[in-house]
Amino acid sequence: AAAVAAAEQVVAALREECATPAARLDGVAAAMAGEMAAGLAEEGGSKIKMIVSYVDNLPNGTEEGLFYALDLGGTNFRVLRVQLAGKEKRVVKRESREVSIPPHLMSGNSSELFGFIASALAKFVADEGHNAVFNDRQRELGFTFSFPVRQTSIASGTLIKWTKAFSIDDAVGEDVVAELQMAMEKQGLDMRVSALINDTVGTLAAGSYYDEDIVVGVILGTGSNAAYLEKANAIPKLEGELPKSGNMVINTEWGNFSSSCLPITEYDEALDKESLNPGEQIFEKLISGMYLGEIVRRVLLKISLQSSIFGNLDQTKLKTRFILRTPDISVMHHDGTPDLRIVAEKLADNLKITDTSLETRKMVVEICDIVTRRSARLAAAGIVGILRKIGRGVPGDKRKSVIAIDGGLYEHYTEFRQCLETTLTELLGEEASKSVAVKLANDGSGLGAALIAAAHSQYL
Ligand code: ADP
Ligand code: MG
Repeated sequence: AAAVAAAEQVVAALREECATPAARLDGVAAAMAGEMAAGLAEEGGSKIKMIVSYVDNLPNGTEEGLFYALDLGGTNFRVLRVQLAGKEKRVVKRESREVSIPPHLMSGNSSELFGFIASALAKFVADEGHNAVFNDRQRELGFTFSFPVRQTSIASGTLIKWTKAFSIDDAVGEDVVAELQMAMEKQGLDMRVSALINDTVGTLAAGSYYDEDIVVGVILGTGSNAAYLEKANAIPKLEGELPKSGNMVINTEWGNFSSSCLPITEYDEALDKESLNPGEQIFEKLISGMYLGEIVRRVLLKISLQSSIFGNLDQTKLKTRFILRTPDISVMHHDGTPDLRIVAEKLADNLKITDTSLETRKMVVEICDIVTRRSARLAAAGIVGILRKIGRGVPGDKRKSVIAIDGGLYEHYTEFRQCLETTLTELLGEEASKSVAVKLANDGSGLGAALIAAAHSQYL
């Protein structure tokens, strides 16, 4: 009984520290909107970079031709080939290949990483055989690169820093398009990078290709970020002539948001300190799929240090960073068996925690719930912050506003998705939320890159 009490104390403290009542989330949304404005005012005006994407028009369906895309940003990268056939027929053919990135390349050097990517791309192209379309035309590619990049045009940009599991020092400050272009040449691949975009921008673009009411694109996968359509005259830091459309897509890089309103625990602090990028991407570390399982592991470790409810345990596994992944906590969270058999299996298989009581297993599910609800509710608050910034989804606004969301966390973690959606309604209010909807934009980032490459084709 003493063991249970000690464990319950850890959970009770976690519950309290992770609490996200509506008033707190309103503060988060307001702080997000404020940081957004500061980041638009001047370069370096905020921790969130509010990157000008150089995408000033979203696709409208008239795009035509055969285009390639390359999507790099998580543990895998994907190459795509998309046949676009205009307004009526849209995407008539879509082929893709997914390649996992060997972990040693994520912290090696730039030429190795880009060489690996270019060779996979060259193979993808070679496998299609001879294609007469390209007898007198160069192949064109949209490059989705989901790390913070300072863009200098639609097809160039220098890497500001790595995030997530990447850390390749000699790439920082370099033009990632030039690196890719060089690697492709080495492979003898004649292909032009027509557009460099972020996955959030791709999600927004692919979303609006099918639904013109889409105004925000959000990624909830390995990492988290958002992009949205801003009025060009609301971007003081925009240099030179304003785009004809009057609009500009902004990649917020909200993952680096931080604020005293955020509910941060000892587990988050330790995770951050031991991460590849301490002090950075604080919002992302509270929200995204790379970290949720790791936060839960840290809580379980604390419980095992303070109580004996896990029995006589070899803690080697439980002390291993990132051994518990977000898909694992998702499986435990959704366990519908009366005796939580799946939780028992996961604890045994992943952490060597065997012989748990039902009470202990319920406690584990609650920890998953606390961590995931905090994440989903903070993500919802971020979205509300963007909507407020652009005056959408506020009382009196009759326009429909749709948010396109892509990423494995949102797509596969049902409890997360439902919590995000109910929190949006809670924060926007019954009336305003009638004009706001969220939509899964499956694989938007790759298609979006191909669409934007088409819009910037050298043959137009
Ligand atoms: P990326 O963000 O790397 O481009 P995805 O959008 O596919 O890739 O997201 C992958 C991430 O989604 C994984 O790192 C994981 O955190 C999360 N994820 C994948 N499957 C699940 C799942 N079943 N339940 C919860 N999270 C998941
Ligand atoms: Mg992705």
